[in-house]
Amino acid sequence: MLFERQNFLVAGLSRSGISAAEYLIAQHAGGVYLYDDLDDENVRAAKAKLSALGCVAIGPNELDERAEKCDVLVLSPGIPVDHPLPVSFKRAGKRIVGESELGALALRCPVIAVTGTNGKTTTVSMLEAILKAGGKNAVACGNVGRPITSCIEELGEDGIAVAEISSFQLETLYSLRPHVAVVLNVTEDHLNRHYTFENYIFLKSRILKNSAESEFAVLNFDDPIVRGFAEKTKAKTVWFSLKEKVAGGYMADGYFCFRGERICAEGELTLEGDHNRMNALAAICAAKLFGVDNGAIAAALKNFRGVKHRLQNVGTLNGVTFLDDSKATNVDSAVKAIGSVKGETVILLGGKDKGYSYEPLFDAIKDSGVVHAVIYGENAFRILNAALKRGFLNLTLCRPFDMAVRVAYLTAKPGQNVLLSPASASFDAFRSYEERGDRFVEMLGILRGESARTEPVPPAAGGELESE
Ligand code: ADP
Repeated sequence: MLFERQNFLVAGLSRSGISAAEYLIAQHAGGVYLYDDLDDENVRAAKAKLSALGCVAIGPNELDERAEKCDVLVLSPGIPVDHPLPVSFKRAGKRIVGESELGALALRCPVIAVTGTNGKTTTVSMLEAILKAGGKNAVACGNVGRPITSCIEELGEDGIAVAEISSFQLETLYSLRPHVAVVLNVTEDHLNRHYTFENYIFLKSRILKNSAESEFAVLNFDDPIVRGFAEKTKAKTVWFSLKEKVAGGYMADGYFCFRGERICAEGELTLEGDHNRMNALAAICAAKLFGVDNGAIAAALKNFRGVKHRLQNVGTLNGVTFLDDSKATNVDSAVKAIGSVKGETVILLGGKDKGYSYEPLFDAIKDSGVVHAVIYGENAFRILNAALKRGFLNLTLCRPFDMAVRVAYLTAKPGQNVLLSPASASFDAFRSYEERGDRFVEMLGILRGESARTEPVPPAAGGELESE
């Protein structure tokens, strides 16, 4: 067996680290050691669960000694490859793999791998729904939330793994050879981790590096960087575009089309925005390559309601609609939200900085329904600076998140939206974008409660108003 007699150090005990450790134990690995810099409730629970299976948890004091005895480091995508731990493995000439590499080595079924700066989760979820509607055993896995190593048996040989692959995963993924690789777009993101845009582009292109002539690359024709990937791969290119009638997926006469066939009317897709039409086109291309019939694709697109925290309408209070786009953790995704939201909007911007320019936000705002911005969080002054440089002055600066949501609501008039599309990571104040989105919804509940308490009591029917 591949893993016997080898000792593994699993670093980072979140979802994928736990799954990797479970998988290695099931594969009779020589030894599985567990390490995490954190010592919170979740990490302790993971250590307890995995120790019961035969893993050995180690603390910071034993790390150097134990690491020396390990052959392979299984690195969480959350830990950068220039962290001292992977650097020490690299210096010793040892292997560093991610959980997704273990998954790629284990999978026995065809894989559709989806990457890009934005739209991965939406596209992967849409594609899973389409393939299932077409009668296939498809499982959305990878960065979408289900580690690949946890789906191996479920997928067997006849399933289709629809794997969301992030740039963090691509750093430690070598063996993946997808039957279909989808690249949605590449715009600036994660520069705090990858240092340069060029490095980030290179990492994204690695999704195609093992592809042969028998495989397919579904590429965004409208994105100049992604278009360039076609020259770097041996895979057959299938384009998708909103602008041109390309060889692949495109829009014509109000229909989603694929190679001359009409798949379904544009209006059938319930998700708003050109970016979601692009995601749908990419999903259609991949599904057609797997032989799904048009009726099944149309039915699945019609029923697809989107994914939580992605431009989700979460309720209305006194005529103000709250839109949760907490997953907009970079500038391009927020620009797409600004462009697709209908009606006048107060936007909430801010959070943890990732090292890019915020000026494109204010270029987009100029031609949009955004009437006011409430800027909050750790990077508030960088965003403020960008707004001022672009001459956008309808703004309020308000550092704490709860207060910013309150101010946004009080600023919005009935009929307007409050849009949380922060263009920033959440880690300045939250554990995740999910927690930030959930807090936004909680704030709506709190404001609702306050509003109910302060509403004037209507006079009793037939009664007379007292004068003051
Ligand atoms: P990812 O998994 O790549 O982060 P998601 O589907 O979770 O992508 O969407 C993340 C954010 O990007 C959301 O705010 C969403 O509205 C926006 N978005 C979705 N698809 C696209 C796209 N094709 N281009 C730009 N932004 C997008």
